[in-house]
Amino acid sequence: MTYEDTDTLIIGGGVIGLSIAWHLSRENQAVTMIDSAEPGQSSRAAAGMLAPLAEARGPGPFLDLALESLRRYPDFVEALNEESGLDLEICGPGMLRVARTAEEESALGEAFEWQAKLGLPLCRLTGEEVRRLEPDTAARVRAALLSPAERHIEPRLLLAGLTSACRNRGVRFVSGSVTDMEMTSERVIAAQTNSDRFPCQTLVIAGGAWSKFWGQILGVSVPIQPLRGQILALGPCQPILLRHTLYTHGAYLVPRSDGRIVAGATEESVGFETQTTAYGMASLRANAEELIPALSNWPLQSAWTGLRPLSVDGLPLLGRVPRWGNIHIAAGHGRNGILLAPVTAALMADSILHDAKLPEAFDPARFGGRL
Ligand SMILES: Cc1cc2nc3c(=O)[nH]c(=O)nc-3n(C[C@H](O)[C@H](O)[C@H](O)COP(=O)(O)OP(=O)(O)OC[C@H]3O[C@@H](n4cnc5c(N)ncnc54)[C@H](O)[C@@H]3O)c2cc1C
Repeated sequence: MTYEDTDTLIIGGGVIGLSIAWHLSRENQAVTMIDSAEPGQSSRAAAGMLAPLAEARGPGPFLDLALESLRRYPDFVEALNEESGLDLEICGPGMLRVARTAEEESALGEAFEWQAKLGLPLCRLTGEEVRRLEPDTAARVRAALLSPAERHIEPRLLLAGLTSACRNRGVRFVSGSVTDMEMTSERVIAAQTNSDRFPCQTLVIAGGAWSKFWGQILGVSVPIQPLRGQILALGPCQPILLRHTLYTHGAYLVPRSDGRIVAGATEESVGFETQTTAYGMASLRANAEELIPALSNWPLQSAWTGLRPLSVDGLPLLGRVPRWGNIHIAAGHGRNGILLAPVTAALMADSILHDAKLPEAFDPARFGGRL
């Protein structure tokens, strides 16, 4: 197969690279995607929460981006279903952000004060009201915010849908590790794997936690580090114990439609280490049982890890790489890459196809130009 006609070459086939590839291919771009792993493999670790309010620390550009992406999700999923032939859905009746201590309750009260004005439905519940909705919730849960719009998606299905929709649109998938780039002083001409050369008009770096490497090659600062998350699934067991996602400081439970409950997730700065640990598993189970005591009898179905791409200021890098005419980056989505995929794909297509200036807060140049 020849790749001479590639308009856009994307390094990285996680949820971000795939979403961009799909969007560009729908705009008739010839897209080639290179990943050293199976497409979507890396993003499969996610729990799949679409939770801008739960994840926001305050008003600002991140929250605006996350709310916009949530708003786009229903159309994104509908178009994906049409183009992939799969049956994705946004699941569940929403999220209960719960408080177990007086301190957590007061933090929820403060969050409610500013978040209730943002346009998403949000209401305060007492512990008793929580247990009326979710009878197995622990007695020590004393309050919650009910957020019906913050639902979830099954990441593995999402990634299968994106891969299939990309294939149907003619995106070419290449298995391999990009090791170098062929460049003039301002432009990239081709990317190189150990065995092949891939010419391109435009290059997109969507390398997740591995994106920093390209900063070194291009002489720009890409301050992204991996943040390991361990996560596990319990069950499946009947009867269904939980319908809402339960979310609290340092822990969450996401019910899957097959009766499993996903319990996440640790946050560990351990470089590119991807093993699960005894401590990680024990703490996830303890947190899960603290929210729903009946889970102590549930079997461990599986456990896995993922590397979140965390930027130094917690915001993604979106747009043209400073001083490089045809290199773009979309990386650093941290804990929210699944949520942010639809808006990221749309913004990046604007940047690539129309040279649009993206919101300054996400400008890759904010960490300095060429080193
Ligand atoms: C435990 C856990 C739970 C999470 N839960 C949620 C959640 O509930 N909601 C949410 O929105 N987000 C969640 N996330 C975050 C989300 O998974 C990430 O933000 C997202 O997957 C990042 O996607 P990405 O495409 O940028 O990176 P990745 O998925 O890591 O993809 C990057 C890809 O680039 C490839 N690559 C890198 N360098 C090269 C190279 N040189 N050559 C070829 N290929 C290369 C890698 O192989 C990889 O496949 C969670 C993450 C974890 C770990």
